[in-house]
Amino acid sequence: MVDLQSQYQHIKADIDRGIQEVIESAAFVKGPKVSAFQANLEAYTGAKHVIPVGNGTDALQIALMALGLKPGDEVITPTFTFIATAEVVALLGLTPVVVDVDWETMNMSLDSVRRAITPRTKAIVPVHLFGQCAEMEPLLALAHEHKLYVVEDACQAIGARYTFSDGTTRQAGTMGHIGCTSFFPSKNLGCYGDGGAIFTNDDELASSMRAIANHGMVVRYHHDRIGVNSRLDAIQAAVLDAKLPHLDEYIAARQRAAAYYDRAFAGNEHILVPGRQKESTHVFHQYTLRLIGVDRDQVREALQEAGIPAMIYYPVPLHMQKAYQDPRYREGDFPVAERLAACVLSLPMHTELDEEQLNYIISHVIEAIKK
Ligand SMILES: *Cc1c(COP(=O)(O)O)cnc(C)c1O
Repeated sequence: MVDLQSQYQHIKADIDRGIQEVIESAAFVKGPKVSAFQANLEAYTGAKHVIPVGNGTDALQIALMALGLKPGDEVITPTFTFIATAEVVALLGLTPVVVDVDWETMNMSLDSVRRAITPRTKAIVPVHLFGQCAEMEPLLALAHEHKLYVVEDACQAIGARYTFSDGTTRQAGTMGHIGCTSFFPSKNLGCYGDGGAIFTNDDELASSMRAIANHGMVVRYHHDRIGVNSRLDAIQAAVLDAKLPHLDEYIAARQRAAAYYDRAFAGNEHILVPGRQKESTHVFHQYTLRLIGVDRDQVREALQEAGIPAMIYYPVPLHMQKAYQDPRYREGDFPVAERLAACVLSLPMHTELDEEQLNYIISHVIEAIKK
């Protein structure tokens, strides 16, 4: 699905030098590499504060911990996403309220959010799924009207840009009260282990989240609240700092590959290409097809036989997961998410796909669908 080896070869000298510097400085935790990357990421995203943490799931957990929510408070999340989005809500004793998604963009449906708001709702966690921003402008307006926090799960969408009706453009993760991202190796800005970051423009939230990520500590060994231990290590920061200057190039390479797939599949009655939302760019963390009237397992097997990995993100919506069984929800409640779970197939998508590889993948997909 990804080719991290070839990507490394192009910037090997920078990455190796960065890692070497960390080893020689022996500043493995915190230190100058982490601060340098933090500052560079602030400059890139336009977020006032970037807080580096251990991974994307921690970022989401720390964000929710900073909001001062109480058990039973409701947090709205889409049912079609990676489990981490709702996992941290449940883990903190808050109540996840799941909503359906849009068939075209596969992002949270605004109508479903509107219907899910109750007097107990405290926050909304939109997910910018597969690299395209959710409908942020109307969502932010809705949140404002009901005095709700918005915590963006931008783990798949770093670098995606959303344009508001007044012409201003903001990056994924910097539009709500808090944004969270992941640097898991296969993410669009990936390190060589685990990593994540939190974005906010709010000074107060920034200082609480910094404290929470550091055992709830502001003054050394004085703990003002219960926190966690979550930090980006310096070797990962060195890798990320070497890759960040190339992020826009990487995004452009993914977008070129996506456009190539789009053209090749246009007009095929069995293949729907990813729907686009005009306000947002799409950074294609995944290129996800919807297969209509074909046996998906058979297509996937045929691709596998040709040496082409294809993945199902995500086969089971949250409300149908064993650990999240809830008398409020049953199969059939979220028809779009359930239909997507049954028909999506993500093709290889990364920065190193060339025309020959794309043609190989495309011809095998079209061949497999005919069978
Ligand atoms: C990857 C991902 C996460 C979690 O990030 P980790 O760094 O793996 O903890 C959360 N939400 C979404 C949508 C993701 O894709």
